[in-house]
Amino acid sequence: MKSQDIRAKFLSFFEEKQHSIVPSAPMVLKDDPTLMFVNAGMAPFKEYFLGNAKPKNNRITDSQKCLRVSGKHNDLEEVGYDTYHHTLFEMLGNWSFGDYFKEEAIAWAWELLTEVFKIDKDILYVSVFEGSEEDGLGLDTEALEIWKKYISEDRIITGDKKDNFWEMGDQGPCGPCSEIHVDIRSAEEKAKIPGKDLVNKDHPQVVEIWNLVFMQYNRKANGSLEALPNKHIDTGMGFERLCMVLQGVQSNYDTDVFTPIIKEVEAITNKTYGKDEKVDVAIRVICDHVRAVAFSIADGQLPSNTGAGYVIRRILRRAVRYGFTFLDKKEPFIYRLVEVLDKKMGKAFPELKIQKQLVENVIKEEEQSFLRTLDQGLVLLNRVVEETKEGTVSGTKAFELYDTYGFPIDLTALILSEKGLKLDEKGFEEELQKQKRRSRAASEMSTDDWTVLIEDDVEEFIGYDALEAKVKLTRYRKVTSKKDGDMYQLVFNLTPFYPEGGGQVGDKGYIEDAYGDVVYILNTKKENNVIIHFTETLPKHLNESLKVVVDEKQRHRTECNHTATHLLHQALRSILGTHVEQKGSAVHSKYLRFDFSHFSKLTEDELHDIESFVNARISGKIPLVEKRNVPKEEAIADGAMSLFGEKYGDTVRSIQFGQSIELCGGTHVKNTADIWHFKIVSEGAVAAGIRRIEAITNDGVKGYYTENNRSFQEMKGLLNNAKEPVKALQNLQEENANLKKQIESLLKDKAKNVKGELKSELTEINGIQFLAKKLDLDAGGLKDVAFELGSQFDNLFLLFATEKDGKALLSCYISKELVASKGLNAGQVVRELGKFIQGGGGGQPFFATAGGKNPGGIEQALAEAKNYIV
Ligand code: ATP
Ligand code: MG
Repeated sequence: MKSQDIRAKFLSFFEEKQHSIVPSAPMVLKDDPTLMFVNAGMAPFKEYFLGNAKPKNNRITDSQKCLRVSGKHNDLEEVGYDTYHHTLFEMLGNWSFGDYFKEEAIAWAWELLTEVFKIDKDILYVSVFEGSEEDGLGLDTEALEIWKKYISEDRIITGDKKDNFWEMGDQGPCGPCSEIHVDIRSAEEKAKIPGKDLVNKDHPQVVEIWNLVFMQYNRKANGSLEALPNKHIDTGMGFERLCMVLQGVQSNYDTDVFTPIIKEVEAITNKTYGKDEKVDVAIRVICDHVRAVAFSIADGQLPSNTGAGYVIRRILRRAVRYGFTFLDKKEPFIYRLVEVLDKKMGKAFPELKIQKQLVENVIKEEEQSFLRTLDQGLVLLNRVVEETKEGTVSGTKAFELYDTYGFPIDLTALILSEKGLKLDEKGFEEELQKQKRRSRAASEMSTDDWTVLIEDDVEEFIGYDALEAKVKLTRYRKVTSKKDGDMYQLVFNLTPFYPEGGGQVGDKGYIEDAYGDVVYILNTKKENNVIIHFTETLPKHLNESLKVVVDEKQRHRTECNHTATHLLHQALRSILGTHVEQKGSAVHSKYLRFDFSHFSKLTEDELHDIESFVNARISGKIPLVEKRNVPKEEAIADGAMSLFGEKYGDTVRSIQFGQSIELCGGTHVKNTADIWHFKIVSEGAVAAGIRRIEAITNDGVKGYYTENNRSFQEMKGLLNNAKEPVKALQNLQEENANLKKQIESLLKDKAKNVKGELKSELTEINGIQFLAKKLDLDAGGLKDVAFELGSQFDNLFLLFATEKDGKALLSCYISKELVASKGLNAGQVVRELGKFIQGGGGGQPFFATAGGKNPGGIEQALAEAKNYIV
């Protein structure tokens, strides 16, 4: 069965059992600060498990893109070396939110595997949680009894907390789980060791394919467990591993998920897969990593220098490195694999199909820039090799190459060993640990349990209509971090505060109680669908009604910028073309920033047209038409631009200003006229094929013009209030250029005169014409004079000095004949006399110069010169 059909069959099986099929959420989630990437199918549904929101259907099925490259789940180092762990993989899941539980979950998993997919029961094993003393939990007999209905008891094993208890994080929903394993070894191998003994022992052909999690507890901050009021099912099956089983192969890479990509790598690199282990590892790494990187970019996470973007950059660099070292690819080629990847997966994941060109461009440029880094690193490393000659290169040096220049340690080790040098790996490891400790210490954080004052499941947001409200505090907690100190997080029964999201900053403002006590709200954020207000202290009277007030001025300025962002988006698509896609935005009170896909620098004319387009809509006084809670499909049918990065169940709100219609949760002005004016302040590149515009509106523009006018007036004042300041300035520039020319020719004349005077000042000592003197000439002048004089004598020794801008300069001229007959050396003279002016220099035996920072030493240097010839 083809992989496409396997995926489709899984989804339709659960659809028949009343599950809604939902698309994969993007891999970078918007409002979950605890996760860098979605690393399990359940991550996008956390708010349902936490009870912060309710899904439309409490049975869902999906294939979720997961990335396990950081934090608790990190399989990166395995990838390429084994045949069944990937960075990006698809997790097939079926979900029950407070609906069915163990009985159905187990029955259906069994039915699907053995009846629909017809997997031989004799290759399956299942596991059950054995219990844990520290948590006061016993064997999961409930699951065991159900399993016994389907599979013989000798195929059921028990597992400990590590393998059979699933936790979302340090806190939150958790529960026991049952894993399903397959044994796909040959009959011969099976005869040697029973499969049961190999379960969970990292055997490449005895692997876990499916994990059924039974969420029934909540882990509290103090580590204790409490029963969840609603029990949930969360299952995750590795799609690529399932394909391996159903296609009868021994490695995920031999399934049709990977073979077309491998073929393409073979064609590009002229290498063959399956002959040499080192080459095979490299090919697997590349085929795996291109998927992770391509989908991250398609989901809006571009490679960068920080956070999630940095992780993506490192994955791509790992692939480049393996290509560079083991496949001899010294030029970009990974981007060329996007084509096959799109053919294979673009249908199931349209985000890739639509953005293919962008993905290719970004990958290509990243490859190019890293290959340049590798080149530079090789130069630096060669220098280290030369300095070391023999023995061991210190861990500190290797760490510097790694940390400062991004030069990978395994490559360093490889090159050193080729040169017969050793690397102090322990020293390197120590440096690495030191750095890790430093960054960990900086980000340490502890979060208390919520103190619940009022049980109130979902808090209401009223910020589209109101800026202040009477509210009640429903819960709060303290968060302590090294970086920010103590902060309180407050949740109210309702709130007008807009939480950071959709690019727009969170509202600020204050809380006031009936006695006039005020606490400032410093920021507002959303976490798993709960709106959290950040304060430095708690309000004094927690249990009374409180007034909360949003900072109106900041909110209004932000709204002007947000609406302008929509108009800018519309302008870009009408002026540059519909290939323009939003790639990110930041809407602050002081400015707005908009990133979009486009392949060349914008011209002055284009920028001007874009500004005019937006300003025409501002003066057109277009009113806001807002629709809340419309089905996404309906909004898109109305012409709303649909953005990737929405996940299932997001409330859809459409914002329309004339022809501009977008799905947006942000806050906006009531009429475009409020924006007053729009001005672009910068345009530039962020990455290959991605441009960024920064712009200002309203008060920002007023401030901008006031400031510009002020400096213009100041400049006019300096130009004696000339009627035509531009002309006056041009005149000044012209005058300046003429003066420069005049000075140059004057200096030349002066040098000529000086030469005449100097000739008369020469004294003869021991048959040598000698002069040591400070002159008022520049470096070029000193040289000219010396060489002019030199052409007239063959027994000349000159030391000239000059002083300019607090710096000293010496220049020494010795006739070539003297150099030969007396063994004199101008280079040596300036080096030695240079110490008086605290400097150094050099040159040739007949002419040399030295610069120094102590003009006070000139006299002494000149006085010493005679010693060379007496
Ligand atoms: P393993 O022990 O094999 O690493 P796991 O216990 O980490 O698996 P779960 O977190 O239970 O796996 O994830 C559910 C399913 O996802 C697994 O049964 C497996 O089929 C699949 N899976 C997990 N990690 C990966 C990975 N890195 N690459 C491909 N599939 C994976
Ligand atoms: Mg794992």
